[in-house]
Amino acid sequence: MAKKFDHYKKVGRVVDKLAAKKKRPKFMAVIDEDNCTGCQVCVPFCPTDCIRPVPQAKYGLPIPPVQVIYDHCMGCMACQKACADLAWDAIRKFPLAEFETRFGIEINDKPTDPVPALAAGI
Ligand code: SF4
Ligand code: SF4
Repeated sequence: MAKKFDHYKKVGRVVDKLAAKKKRPKFMAVIDEDNCTGCQVCVPFCPTDCIRPVPQAKYGLPIPPVQVIYDHCMGCMACQKACADLAWDAIRKFPLAEFETRFGIEINDKPTDPVPALAAGI
């Protein structure tokens, strides 16, 4: 019998258990909003559930791009792999120091708020 080809073999696993960031990450995921289709393929791969659509008013698009809630990102880059393998190429990986300098955002050891879905008991 012919071996079944697994189209999804190289793709990471979607997350079935959420976690909270415990320390400052080495990297930060930054969505290139001009390139993001808003498909949300990356969302279920994020272990901290920190990828959200940008407010609709920002671009006035029916399907807005997504953004990362930076304080929750643990820098695992699972989102980047999912986007590149399954959707597009809209997520950039920044070393944390470069991210903080470039965007003027300081990242904490732990998030100041709980992971949104965990806080909601999801
Ligand atoms: S998978 Fe890529 S293109 Fe789709 S929403 Fe995520 S970042 Fe945007
Ligand atoms: S790098 Fe990891 S934690 Fe950060 S947004 Fe991407 S999937 Fe989520």
